[in-house]
Amino acid sequence: MERTNAWTKYDEKTVADVMRTASDYIAFLNRGKTERECAAQAVEMAKAAGYRDLKDVIREGKALKAGDKVYWLQMNKAVLLFHIGKRPLAEGLNILGAHIDSPRIDLKQNPFYEDTDIAYADTHYYGGIKKYQWVARALSLHGVVVKKDGTSVPVVIGEDESDPVVGISDLLIHLSQEQMVKKASEVIEGEKLDVMLAGMPLSGEEKEPVLKGLLKILKDKYGLEEEDMLSAEIEVVPAEKARDYGLDRSMILGYGHDDRVCAWACLEAQLKLAGTPEYTCATILADKEEIGSVGATGMQAVYFENALAEIMALCGEEGNLALRRALAGSRMLSCDVSAGYDPLFASAFEKKNAAILGRGVCYNKFTGSRGKSGSNDANAEFIGRLRKVMDDHQVFFQTAELGRVDLGGGGTIAYICALYGMEVIDSGVAVLSMHAPQEIINKADLYEAVKAYGAFLQNMGPRN
Ligand SMILES: [Zn+2]
Repeated sequence: MERTNAWTKYDEKTVADVMRTASDYIAFLNRGKTERECAAQAVEMAKAAGYRDLKDVIREGKALKAGDKVYWLQMNKAVLLFHIGKRPLAEGLNILGAHIDSPRIDLKQNPFYEDTDIAYADTHYYGGIKKYQWVARALSLHGVVVKKDGTSVPVVIGEDESDPVVGISDLLIHLSQEQMVKKASEVIEGEKLDVMLAGMPLSGEEKEPVLKGLLKILKDKYGLEEEDMLSAEIEVVPAEKARDYGLDRSMILGYGHDDRVCAWACLEAQLKLAGTPEYTCATILADKEEIGSVGATGMQAVYFENALAEIMALCGEEGNLALRRALAGSRMLSCDVSAGYDPLFASAFEKKNAAILGRGVCYNKFTGSRGKSGSNDANAEFIGRLRKVMDDHQVFFQTAELGRVDLGGGGTIAYICALYGMEVIDSGVAVLSMHAPQEIINKADLYEAVKAYGAFLQNMGPRN
């Protein structure tokens, strides 16, 4: 059973639409290289679409009714969007969930040191990366430094053409005889993944003059003391901009497709819902997926459940039982990227159950690894209803699993939401070079994801 390549069915107008959608997404990606930046953009987009801050609504004690739209910002790193539907919330919601954190390198809390006339920052990488991919390339610094008085200083260095960039050095090939026979996981060690920040001694200083020069720049330019780094979150990310990929411009090369491509598609679908939906529609943009969905902004925290409880109370559906019913009765697409089939690494896949670039949005009944371990494994009854919604709305979709059985695997937020007893399936865009500093997606898959998510929100109904 072969699925169709979506491009083969597009007319001229649709191709133009695909390209326009792709440029909107590229702009989002370039302005959102961290979870904080993506959360801020999502809130900005939501406000423009008529969403109000749920915290304000709660404070004012205003009732909510069908057609109302509210958002919840969780610690500046995760966002929830709700568009209240006509039916009672206890009949369940249609939910999209994606994550906005991506693999990267974080500065430690006591980062700066000088070694042999170079000033460095010590780091600890975040998420699953091939460390050797992050050396010898332009990197930028993004994040916040929070001072003791509570003021937050935003940091973005390396994005503007006139900005300097930073990076991590690699050993020259001429002296790499020993390095070249090492295992790929050991070629670059985590502790050696240190970022070069400065190379000019501060005149008049004898001890660590380059470091002193760096600290002077931080103070003069940003008003920061070294100690302020104790309450900072600085992320080191690729400095390159996302851009069209391939001579036919069919693809996009960029940092953080995992999982901002699905996050953006969810935003598009949620914010452009026409009219008042039948069932309440929600979008979750979670943080910390790449390190196990932990912490107060990860999916394992109950901020979604809490926000829903607040909304139900404001809708006159108070009580624990109604909340339990709403959660258990919900339908959800856990929107996360899938491993795209790579002909150059064919042996890692089982081709007829692999996601192929250009063949539309991808559904993963199960992810997990080695015997479906840790997998959500969506119910066939749910997939049956979902297929009808997709076909009724001419969505190009395919089904896949992450790779060859027994090779490896990965997780998403699906299994966490499934704990409530709601129906959940993984759904997303196929990615090549996943978790590399520059990942690849096909524009047709992005376009079909937006279509799929919109159709799901508007048309998915409860099980019998
Ligand atoms: Zn990932």
